[in-house]
Amino acid sequence: MEEDRKPSEALLSRRNFLQLSGITAAALAATGATALLTSAPVRARKTAARIVIVGAGAAGISLSARLGKSLDGARITVIDRREAHYYQPGLTLVASGVWQPGKVVSRNADHLPRGIEWVRDMVAEYDPDNNRVITAGGESIEYDYLLVASGLQVNYAAIEGMSPELIGSNGIACVYDNPSHASRSWQAISAFRARGGVGLFTRPPGAIKCAGAPLKIAMLTEYRLREAGSRSRAELHYLAPGQGLFSQPDIDRFLKTHLPDERGFTIDWNHRLTAIDAGARQATFATPDGLRTLDYDFIHVVPPMSAPQAVVDSPLAWQEGPFAGWLEVDRHTLQHRRYPNVFGVGDVIGTPIGKTAASVKAQVPVAAGNLVDLIAGREFSRSYNGYTSCPLITEVGQAILVEFDYELKMVPSFGFINPTEQHWVPWVLKDRMLQAAYNAMLRGRI
Ligand SMILES: Cc1cc2nc3c(=O)[nH]c(=O)nc-3n(C[C@H](O)[C@H](O)[C@H](O)COP(=O)(O)OP(=O)(O)OC[C@H]3O[C@@H](n4cnc5c(N)ncnc54)[C@H](O)[C@@H]3O)c2cc1C
Repeated sequence: MEEDRKPSEALLSRRNFLQLSGITAAALAATGATALLTSAPVRARKTAARIVIVGAGAAGISLSARLGKSLDGARITVIDRREAHYYQPGLTLVASGVWQPGKVVSRNADHLPRGIEWVRDMVAEYDPDNNRVITAGGESIEYDYLLVASGLQVNYAAIEGMSPELIGSNGIACVYDNPSHASRSWQAISAFRARGGVGLFTRPPGAIKCAGAPLKIAMLTEYRLREAGSRSRAELHYLAPGQGLFSQPDIDRFLKTHLPDERGFTIDWNHRLTAIDAGARQATFATPDGLRTLDYDFIHVVPPMSAPQAVVDSPLAWQEGPFAGWLEVDRHTLQHRRYPNVFGVGDVIGTPIGKTAASVKAQVPVAAGNLVDLIAGREFSRSYNGYTSCPLITEVGQAILVEFDYELKMVPSFGFINPTEQHWVPWVLKDRMLQAAYNAMLRGRI
């Protein structure tokens, strides 16, 4: 029976499915997958270059697959200790009880292409003046070209009293980092929807990965309360570090009306979480009027984020300015601004926007293509326009497909969907289709 099925299944009714089959073609076109069917094979460039890729996440694996196809004879080494691969865009669905955590976990060994050397270690030091990296295990690995794709780190310790072990207990949730955190967050959300009380949803200042995720968790929790019939027993606060909710102005405007007027959130502006007392269930925020401590029954903590420490401490980081500490690349070519044989892709780079898997998908062909041009002694042929995208889930079954570029201009893939309104199509994309597109990206196919 329809009611017995998971919400996502019930939502994908036969009528929706028929409409979706037309959308599938459009989605493939938007992701570039159809080019696979039409483009002639390109001859790989011969080279004996030693290429080192740091990080085997979304960006590192995609880069290794692309470069493995475009270069013949290159020695490609990927460095990353992590064996498990997490499909991070699925974490919000795990934290809202829609997906089981196992759905977002796979093995890097199954994604890395054959012919690549995989060093199971972490880079502890970058030495770009001598074209080498040094691993935590003390190995020095030399390169002709370096691609930094080491993602970012979540700085739990920047919030006094916070540690990842607390997630899932004392009303504390945090969707970031890994499936265990997401699944323990679902436990905390489930307990909150049963009991009600005061719910706080935080967001740090500065760049974070998937800037939509804190908003998605807020709206999905509100949905789960409504669904359970306990919405009237909950008081919900979204605490924003500044005066905005989202960098893209049309979406910012939408949220500033939608959250308070349609979802009943109180928005507390200029509130930055500084400390948490898990036992007392109290959270302290820095505000322009001084510190403010609030009692809570449930809190979604989003700690500040930075490039991994090895990058922050290296000569490769921006030394000052708005991107200080992040990898210093040219925002269009993705080449390092001071070390021309270094490129960067993914969450680690210091550019105005784009810490999403969708950005990685747009960036990988640019960095890989420009590296091949560099090896071939040609002018760069690729440029990244800042494309980023995120299905902003508003509730189970509804989302807004937010797509924009460095100019903060909306660049919608689907002409028939209003890019600032909720719709079931972006939800179905998120729930049913984007993981397959992500896996195709890992294989260098799109
Ligand atoms: C909750 C959540 C929701 C999201 N939702 C979406 C979404 O809806 N849409 C979307 O497009 N994106 C989404 N994202 C963002 C997306 O998942 C990331 O932007 C993407 O995974 C970044 O890829 P990456 O390769 O740069 O980093 P990662 O995939 O995180 O990989 C980085 C890798 O580098 C390794 N590493 C780190 N330091 C070192 C070192 N010193 N030496 C060697 N290796 C190192 C790590 O072990 C890791 O394997 C979401 C992310 C989260 C957390």
